[in-house]
Amino acid sequence: MAAYIPDNYQPTSNLLKGKSILVTGAGDGIGRSAALSYASHGATVILLGRTLAKLETVYDEIEAARHPQPAIFESNLADLTPSQCTDLAGALATEFIQLDGVLHNASILGERQYIADAGYWQWMEVMQVNVNAQFLLTQHLLPLLQAAPSASIILTSSGVGRTGKARWGAYAVSKFATEGFMQVLASELRERSAIRVNSLNPGATNTAMRRAAYPDEKATDNPSPHSLMPTYLYLMGDDSLGVTGQAFDAQ
Ligand code: NAP
Repeated sequence: MAAYIPDNYQPTSNLLKGKSILVTGAGDGIGRSAALSYASHGATVILLGRTLAKLETVYDEIEAARHPQPAIFESNLADLTPSQCTDLAGALATEFIQLDGVLHNASILGERQYIADAGYWQWMEVMQVNVNAQFLLTQHLLPLLQAAPSASIILTSSGVGRTGKARWGAYAVSKFATEGFMQVLASELRERSAIRVNSLNPGATNTAMRRAAYPDEKATDNPSPHSLMPTYLYLMGDDSLGVTGQAFDAQ
């Protein structure tokens, strides 16, 4: 059963003060909104994404608002290697003594095909970006997360990652894998670490991905990324201390 944040949850303005948080896919859509929201609640945000110009726009917005100075890590997760993750962890370790949170948000939709018709390389790319990159990043960042008193890992799921649906192919399977990754990691860390790990299904949201998946829908009928931020803040901040291994819905 899905979990929800407490009714009428209101994050305090300094909820994330002093925390350093990595957001993947921070240049657009929900990731962009989460990065801006985390920064506005006091966090130093590490913006990871594949399109430098988009990351720079988010960076400039955060700087203009006089929030803590963010950092940019340009990376195409489709090509992510263990050695790039070692470099990222090394760079973060010199800048920050700990990492307080990771929002694994970047994903691709892939083809909306029957499994019988799915292309091999398309399938592999979706699995690489949506699943393998999460594993690689998490594994390499665990020592920095362990160094924080109460780190939070949020893995982004989807409705089709909880109930399978025809023609959602690799994307849906990748989100089931994300739920599995969350459960295994939460179970492994529960007894021996203060790191909490949860999944979050944003639900239908007005972003480029939703518009690509549902071209006939009126985009503005769906909520904006900004409207989901209470759940993203709750799970990232200390208000969710002790909450782990749960599958959240933002709507
Ligand atoms: P979006 O608007 O397409 O944004 C995705 C972000 O991920 C973009 O910044 C994109 O970068 C980045 N990204 C994609 N591939 C990447 C790669 N190979 N390497 C690095 N970054 C990459 O999607 P969204 O709707 O905000 O989705 C965010 C998350 O919510 C995803 O995990 C998605 O599955 C999930 N979700 C969304 C909905 C919805 O209705 N929107 C519903 C359920 C779940 P570029 O901008 O450079 O392409």
